[in-house]
Amino acid sequence: MTKWVYSFGAGRNEGRAEMRDLLGGKGANLAEMASIGLPVPPGFTITTEVCTYYYAHERQYPADLRDQVAEALRRVEEAVGARFGDTHRPLLVSVRSGARVSMPGMMDTVLNLGLNDATVDGLAAASGDARFAWDSYRRFIQMYGGVVLGVDHHRFEEIIEHVKLDRGVIEDTELTAQDWHRVVDGYKEMVREAIGRPFPQDPEEQLWGAIGAVFGSWMNQRAITYRRLHDIPSEWGTAVNVQAMVFGNMGEDCATGVCFTRDPSTGENVFYGEYLVNAQGEDVVAGIRTPQPMSKARAKPGERPMEEVMPQAYAELCRVREVLERHYRDMQDIEFTVQRNRLYVLQTRNGKRTAAASLKIAVDMAREGLIDEAEAVRRVNPGALDQLLHPTLDPKAPRKLLSKGLPASPGAACGAVVFSADEAELRAAKGESVILVRIETSPEDIHGMHAAKGILTTRGGMTSHAAVVARGMGRPCVAGAGGITVDYASQQLMAGGQVVRAGETITLDGGTGEVFVGSVAMIEPNMSGDFATLMEWADKVRRLRVRANAETPLDAETARKFGAEGIGLCRTEHMFFDPERIGAVRQMIMAETERGRRDALSRLLPFQRQDFAELFRIMAGLPVTIRLLDPPLHEFLPHSAAEIAEVAESLGADVAAMQRRAAELAEANPMLGHRGCRLGITYPEIYEMQARAIFEAAVEVARETRKAPVPEIMIPLVATRRELEITRAMVDRVAQEVFAETGYHVEYYVGTMIELPRAALTADRIAEAGDFFSFGTNDLTQTTFGLSRDDAGKFLPHYVEKGILPKDPFVSIDVEGVGALVRIAAEKGRAVKPELKLGICGEHGGDPASIQFCEEIGLDYVSCSPYRVPVARLAAAQAALQGGGVDRTA
Ligand code: PEP
Ligand code: MG
Repeated sequence: MTKWVYSFGAGRNEGRAEMRDLLGGKGANLAEMASIGLPVPPGFTITTEVCTYYYAHERQYPADLRDQVAEALRRVEEAVGARFGDTHRPLLVSVRSGARVSMPGMMDTVLNLGLNDATVDGLAAASGDARFAWDSYRRFIQMYGGVVLGVDHHRFEEIIEHVKLDRGVIEDTELTAQDWHRVVDGYKEMVREAIGRPFPQDPEEQLWGAIGAVFGSWMNQRAITYRRLHDIPSEWGTAVNVQAMVFGNMGEDCATGVCFTRDPSTGENVFYGEYLVNAQGEDVVAGIRTPQPMSKARAKPGERPMEEVMPQAYAELCRVREVLERHYRDMQDIEFTVQRNRLYVLQTRNGKRTAAASLKIAVDMAREGLIDEAEAVRRVNPGALDQLLHPTLDPKAPRKLLSKGLPASPGAACGAVVFSADEAELRAAKGESVILVRIETSPEDIHGMHAAKGILTTRGGMTSHAAVVARGMGRPCVAGAGGITVDYASQQLMAGGQVVRAGETITLDGGTGEVFVGSVAMIEPNMSGDFATLMEWADKVRRLRVRANAETPLDAETARKFGAEGIGLCRTEHMFFDPERIGAVRQMIMAETERGRRDALSRLLPFQRQDFAELFRIMAGLPVTIRLLDPPLHEFLPHSAAEIAEVAESLGADVAAMQRRAAELAEANPMLGHRGCRLGITYPEIYEMQARAIFEAAVEVARETRKAPVPEIMIPLVATRRELEITRAMVDRVAQEVFAETGYHVEYYVGTMIELPRAALTADRIAEAGDFFSFGTNDLTQTTFGLSRDDAGKFLPHYVEKGILPKDPFVSIDVEGVGALVRIAAEKGRAVKPELKLGICGEHGGDPASIQFCEEIGLDYVSCSPYRVPVARLAAAQAALQGGGVDRTA
């Protein structure tokens, strides 16, 4: 018999922390906490396997599930001394989702389940508080009505508003038991009208309705979007946790809150969190009332810290903090409730944190001896490092303050104001920087939050939806900026007499909570301190070398600053677009004779020599891979009549001839046409000029610095060995010429990109003619899939969304197909030439999952854009640790 249900805290604890795949994170941790003696209300977890079963069997449950649930429920009843549906001592439960990894706010929750027209009196009698009982009942109908019965939440709010108006009160807290009773009557009537049957009174029926809704919410749109953004497979499913209710809203000696064992924004080792007296969990998250701080140290004048208000429960919570951090050896995010001064822990999980906090916590914990250095390296998500490498506001830059809110997620962002998530997504897709401005955000907004550079809300605290989600995504966020009024209808925001309209620019400082009108200058991030420490630990364990794709001196300098160990790809064509040079480039491509081309090339030579010399100087002896011209010539064509006339004049040709030549050069499928080494073979003078520029520059820098650079000359788009032989012979000949002319010799290598399937499949033949391979996985992905990277946007997102492809293959390597070719080429190449150097220079060189693959097949280096160099260093270290058989999920 399959065990579908696991009890916790109810006389027995059947789960453990390691069982998160089966019990979900929440269920596994509840079981673990109960087993180490922490105060957890009893309950049980229905496994993720039931979710999988449910979707595989047209939303049916396994036959024996009901009996197992009944048995587990009986144990909970015994543990708390109350019974489900009992009119004197009714048991009430919460029903919550809980996937393997937490997906905050994405799925459904129902609280206070078990209330009906009879048990509400039981609750009133048991608690001695009729107002509380009727308030709980209306909360239950509202939540259950929304989540399970699909009734629009506005319809509930209208009824409350109506009763408040009638009674002439403003706050919910002013409503009496009778008022809530009226609200309940109104709710029931409205629900009956909305769904065509009465609100379910039978607690059994309520329970199964809620369980079904939680499983159903695994496939709601926001959960699907969240999974796509976080690479969570839909097969994982969610568990359902049913747990005895405890109440934080039974009076002034009750409270509910959320706390973190360390500061999730900065990583500082201080107890951090918020709580609300006389409230239920959703009040904290919804941001309707302003939560109060936990500790005196963090309280501002006028605030009422829990340490003062509930000293006994606070002391107990501090003990729980210690126990949990030592037990899990990671920063915890804890949900708690205080019922009549007694503390209950409702949830613990590894806390979401900003990149800065993740770095600080990992380094601090290693120093405190909680974890070792290798574990610290594993703890930091390489992708999140990106956030730390981005600019912050320049303290000296002039600025005009608009308003101030809470510093909810650090980093600075600047962009055009938009007021809806859809608009944010739309404009970001066009390459615009936008700031999403909302009164508050909800899970429906996550696509827009992701697309935006920053998020501003006017309501909600540090644990509001906007704050939590923005931190997780690494978007700067200012939350709860109450001084700003947002008017969606007129598409503008106002603060202190200033008006900002949609489309106008604002700047956010997520570290201080400030909002500025217009754009404010930013400065580069600091890469010392914890960042440097973690990088040092990563470098100690990594095997793969990390180089950068760079062609400008600025890129090369940035790359070195970030720790690049050379240049893995210098795309020389990028140097051709400079306004000073484009004239000569156009003259070269439009010339119909070799002579004409050579003339133009001789004008380009000094520029290229200077470019290469500068790169060699900056890289000071590190390897520099220079790729000879790759794109089809028509990319450089003159377009306007004036440009054509200018080229015609420089060549002494007429405009009509130039137009004819332009038509000749145009290609239907340019990325499959006259490009790469095909150009170098048909117009050898182009590669000769580039080779000459490289060697002359190398000699110049070798003489000047006494530190000879070692150029690695790379031939693009090679399909056959013969192509490499021909182009290599050209390069070798020019090298000998330059060495003879200068009387100076430098070491150099000639290799090729492997970016065509034919090259990969015949890599053993090609290796004989080259010194190194660099996998051009951008082109290799295009040519393996038969899919143009410029046109992929039309359908690829759909493929990824529907799971037809697990990920965008231009972002993360398709291990099965493209990866197979890379693996074959690496093996074939090394079989004939063991010393063959192997690297990767496609975009995948900066993608952590692809780097893992590069480690597995034993490449020598990865090359990526300068800003991703630290990401790649850390990912390479993690890959090396994993290669050593270390479990990364710990
Ligand atoms: C590649 O194809 O992977 C590559 C690095 O070259 P490019 O992107 O310039 O075609
Ligand atoms: Mg390429």
